[in-house]
Amino acid sequence: MVVRSPGRINLLGEHTDYNQGFVLPAAIDKYAYVAIGPRTDNRISLLAVDLNENFETSISDIAPVSQTWCNYILGVASQFARCGLLDKGFNLAVSSEIPAGAGLSSSAAISCATAFALNELLHGGIDRLELAKFAQAAEHSFAGVQCGIMDQFASLFGKKDAVIHLDCRSMDYRYIPLKLNGYELLLFNSGVKHSLASTAYNDRRRECEEGVRLIARCYPEVKSLRDATPAQVDECVSGYEIVHRRCRYVVEENIRVLLACDDLQTGNLRAFGQRMTQTHIGLQHQYEVSCRETDFLVAKAISTEGVAGARMMGGGFGGCTLNLVQANAAERLIDKLKSEYARFTGKDLACYRVSTVNGTEVAQKT
Ligand code: ADP
Ligand code: MG
Repeated sequence: MVVRSPGRINLLGEHTDYNQGFVLPAAIDKYAYVAIGPRTDNRISLLAVDLNENFETSISDIAPVSQTWCNYILGVASQFARCGLLDKGFNLAVSSEIPAGAGLSSSAAISCATAFALNELLHGGIDRLELAKFAQAAEHSFAGVQCGIMDQFASLFGKKDAVIHLDCRSMDYRYIPLKLNGYELLLFNSGVKHSLASTAYNDRRRECEEGVRLIARCYPEVKSLRDATPAQVDECVSGYEIVHRRCRYVVEENIRVLLACDDLQTGNLRAFGQRMTQTHIGLQHQYEVSCRETDFLVAKAISTEGVAGARMMGGGFGGCTLNLVQANAAERLIDKLKSEYARFTGKDLACYRVSTVNGTEVAQKT
């Protein structure tokens, strides 16, 4: 059996997930594929087709290993084992067309495909939300990444021609139709991942917690930045310049997501695009997680005719930019950015034209 699970974009709501706020992800037409088959013994045999690497262990010895890719699979298998569902071994091969490390969640796609495939193989009867949590647990305890649940949720719950409005506190979600009406979603891969990323991520999380602590002194009902208003941030945090800037960004971003949902409902893609650009400005100047390469790509894009908006996407310090572009202006934008980026960085600029798709599914039954 082959299972495929898509990568994802996040249209709006960046760094809001761990502040218990709102995000707006969608699954995209780039997949990780997992082929799985049963075994009669206790062995687990893994193959990474694209890396030409394999690995073997047994169901009683599942633990994190030095081959990173195995951890996204073994971490999920350990969750099935924990539930007493893994009574025999399995063979699994993985291959993916999602560029790794570009912020499109190739890792979550692999874990989600594995979770879905194991659930089918073992007749586990586990629902998609629980499978998303299994995949998240694999990132936490096997890959060592303390991620939120958005990536896994988007990969498993994606829906064609829709975005998911997800409340990261309650896990309530609804689909909002994405009617692009002559626009297109384009990604440009900056091809950089600066080493600052993980330190800065932890720093930002701490700064947000500090902000909540300061606000809660006056407003004890504020348990996370999700609960705070811009006025409360100004009143309670203004003496702490950096923390103030970080908190203002998060609070404004949550509001932006809600307004952007209205834009989608009313089909106002121009307004939606402008909010994407505002998000980038916030990430660049208030949250300070962009970098010169993504700032360059966004600045060049938004000064191009037919571009409704652009922003860096993901944790920051590299990765992809997301662009909302009139379809008839897309080719021109791609040509322009490719040549200007080569001049600016000496690097090739990869571009992906993406559309939204359904979440994890069986691609081939036998
Ligand atoms: P992202 O999830 O944003 O793509 P991560 O660093 O979280 O970036 O995940 C990338 C990791 O996922 C890789 O280091 C590798 O372990 C695994 N991975 C991605 N693509 C493949 C692939 N085609 N084959 C095997 N492992 C892969
Ligand atoms: Mg990842």
